Amino acid sequence: MRDIHHFIDGKSFQGGSGRFSDVFDPNTGEVQARVQLATESEVDRAVQAAQNAFEGWSSTNPQRRARVMFEFKRLVEANMDELAELLSSEHGKVIADSKGDVQRGLEVIEFACGIPHALKGEYTWGAGPGIDVYSMRQPLGVVSGITPFNFPAMIPMWMFGVAIAVGNTFILKPSERDPSVPVRLAELMMEAGAPAGVLNVVHGDKAAVDAILTHPLIHAVSFVGSSDIAHYVYQTGAANHKRVQAMGGAKNHGIVLPDADMDQVIKDLSGAAFGSAGERCMALPVVVPVGKQTADILRERMEAEIPSLRVGVSTDADAHYGPVVTAQHRERVAGWIERGVQDGAELVVDGRDFSLQGHEKGYFIGPSLFDHVKPEMASYQEEIFGPVLQIVRAESFEEALALPSKHQYGNGVAIFTQNGRAARDFAARVNVGMVGINVPIPVPVAYHTFGGWKRSAFGDTNQHGMEGVKFWTKVKTVTARWPDSDLEHADSSFVIPTMR
Ligand code: NAD
Repeated sequence: MRDIHHFIDGKSFQGGSGRFSDVFDPNTGEVQARVQLATESEVDRAVQAAQNAFEGWSSTNPQRRARVMFEFKRLVEANMDELAELLSSEHGKVIADSKGDVQRGLEVIEFACGIPHALKGEYTWGAGPGIDVYSMRQPLGVVSGITPFNFPAMIPMWMFGVAIAVGNTFILKPSERDPSVPVRLAELMMEAGAPAGVLNVVHGDKAAVDAILTHPLIHAVSFVGSSDIAHYVYQTGAANHKRVQAMGGAKNHGIVLPDADMDQVIKDLSGAAFGSAGERCMALPVVVPVGKQTADILRERMEAEIPSLRVGVSTDADAHYGPVVTAQHRERVAGWIERGVQDGAELVVDGRDFSLQGHEKGYFIGPSLFDHVKPEMASYQEEIFGPVLQIVRAESFEEALALPSKHQYGNGVAIFTQNGRAARDFAARVNVGMVGINVPIPVPVAYHTFGGWKRSAFGDTNQHGMEGVKFWTKVKTVTARWPDSDLEHADSSFVIPTMR
């Protein structure tokens, strides 16, 4: 059995906890490796390595740090095929989608290549007589990222890409379900020229997360995962004096107005609801057609479209999506479908009995479609995170707008229409953090920022872009006085200085 080790101080580190988690191949249901689960002292070992690296790395000038990022980008691109295969083999998403996972992370690295520009501070010459004021952004020290299974390349790069470029040193605690790609990324970062200790990977479960959240030398924690755990991380990290951003779950709605281009809507919905087996925080698992006629057409077209979706192993180049990540998750998705039926929604297409010939033990689940889903149903209120699309019918624009606005999650939302004024009004009024207008998966580009609202994110700062720079740095403001001549002395002042 292959063991997956930690990566500490520039090299592979075999932990001694004696605790492991199985890593499955979701295509076959077989255990393909086991990953070590760190103890508190192993987390501390990584923190000490990062602390030792901090002084040298933070005083390396930004352009040199950017050069490491350029080289890292080159190396990741050169290893794209290997990374995508590794990712698919543990996650189950199809190879093309794994490449997208890596590529979206690389786009944050591209942003990080421009870090000298992003780190330029503010300067005011002559704020007072002989007085200049300037501010600078300084790194925090040792910082950490805790990431979910569904984007094992992109989300770590969202975090360490910016955090390292601004001069911090990093402890990554990836998901124990697909831990191999994060380790490869750390190896490539060393190959790119980052000194040992700048990027460390510690595998683990709650014990490792708690060790991170309580470690006195860790100054900031970024988390992405499910909402209850995000809330726990936010509260525990803050109680331990850390800066915390914690992104949680989602239930994104696609609003379809009667004038929408229905051909395009059906294509967009298929990809956004079923792509990656629905295991995306920016998936569109709820569609809200406005008006009975729109709803009837959409339902009929979607029902006809679903049989053309191909579910296959992740190496099948023709497959639209692969298996879900674990048997347990498959059961959970099937459980939500059952719950929807019990609650009275109409199950138009049932994907539960799907089985892939030759891969009967793989964690496959076919696409499912519900109609007449109501806001009071638990299967609407909670995140299913599987290939299930729910139709919630609305009679008016206002009713459709209220659904995502009132939902406990507020990650993403999309509106499909040809009416610019309606789209503009919707974008301004909807109570959700990321909005797509005829864009089904509105994940912002890397130089903008990513973040939801309500129970989809705890904390004030988004991921990547300038918000990321803000999260991973602290501002220092210097007020300097250089009088015109050595003979010019100011009188003592016993009141607060003001600019008159
Ligand atoms: P998860 O919450 O189970 O795990 C996330 C991380 O927390 C992992 O590293 C895991 O090891 C750790 N963890 C698990 N149990 C823990 C516990 N009891 N205490 C402390 N840490 C614990 O999430 P997941 O299943 O890996 O990922 C799917 C979830 O992530 C979905 O809810 C999805 O919506 C969400 N997600 C959100 C975003 C976003 O940006 N909002 C992006 C991707 C995924």
